[in-house]
Amino acid sequence: MTKPLLQETPSGLFCEIGDFHIDPSQRVPRAVVTHAHADHARPGSQKYLAAKEGRRVLRHRLGPSAEIEALPYGETKLINGVTLSFHPAGHILGSAQVRVEYRGEVWVVSGDYKTEPDATCAAFEHVRCHTFITECTFGLPIYRWPTQQEIFADINRWWKQCRDDGKPAVLLAYSLGKAQRLIAGVDPAIGPIYCHSAVQQLNEEYRASGIDLPKTWLPTQAPARKDWGGVLVVTPPSTAHSIWLSMFRNASVAMVSGWMLTPQTPRSRSVEIGFPLSDHADWPGLLKAIDETRAEQIFVTHGQPGTIVRWLNENGKFARALGANNGLQNE
Ligand SMILES: [Zn+2]
Ligand SMILES: [Zn+2]
Repeated sequence: MTKPLLQETPSGLFCEIGDFHIDPSQRVPRAVVTHAHADHARPGSQKYLAAKEGRRVLRHRLGPSAEIEALPYGETKLINGVTLSFHPAGHILGSAQVRVEYRGEVWVVSGDYKTEPDATCAAFEHVRCHTFITECTFGLPIYRWPTQQEIFADINRWWKQCRDDGKPAVLLAYSLGKAQRLIAGVDPAIGPIYCHSAVQQLNEEYRASGIDLPKTWLPTQAPARKDWGGVLVVTPPSTAHSIWLSMFRNASVAMVSGWMLTPQTPRSRSVEIGFPLSDHADWPGLLKAIDETRAEQIFVTHGQPGTIVRWLNENGKFARALGANNGLQNE
């Protein structure tokens, strides 16, 4: 039996013929990276190859000395006879599915993906392949996202209410991707938008990469003794109980995450409100993406694959879970 084009190794997915890893969990000579989230892009490898559109945010993550080669979406690169290309995954700026082809056999590694398009990154592309390695962060039938129009209408309504009540409105959201999508999607006419520095730095990387975002401020740019009533604050979830956040006295605090659809989550996170805006595919999105690949073989990773693997097998597809050593969940 010939070896599969991609194999699981202790360092992550490995293409032996091409001699490269995809989103390796350890330092390797050549890392192909799907996107800049910490559970996919780890510092310390000798060389990186990633989609050009995400180059700036990846540089922000890996540091100034990392050797990064960037390839535009859809362009191919030949590596030891293996043809590699990146295709939009619709997850965050520069996120990519990795397509590898060798002697007519095509594998696609999804990375993290979202099938609903948004203003801050290229829309997910369906890529045909023989073998599809898909994430399944939200691989349970209970996860069905409302449309983002509905969610943004809810967020704007809540923000207006906070303004009318003289309170700051605080959104807890991951600093890379989710925060920028929120800033691009809310109605900036309601009031000024203030960001934690971790968010603001990435806003700047997005703007420098050509993504339009409304004006955002650091709190240090505000006049002394500012009344924060009516401002929107975008800050990472890790700051939820920080001294930093306590300067926005009397704030209404909301968490933005797909996990908000899980019963009990808002209370367990001790936030008043949850908005279920996710940068991952929901259950119907996963099934549609898998179906559109026309893949004969599906490997499921990055989540709890049991349910979706069973569903696929019961519906006539060959599917199985990949090992659990694919890193921590970041989003
Ligand atoms: Zn991600
Ligand atoms: Zn991930």
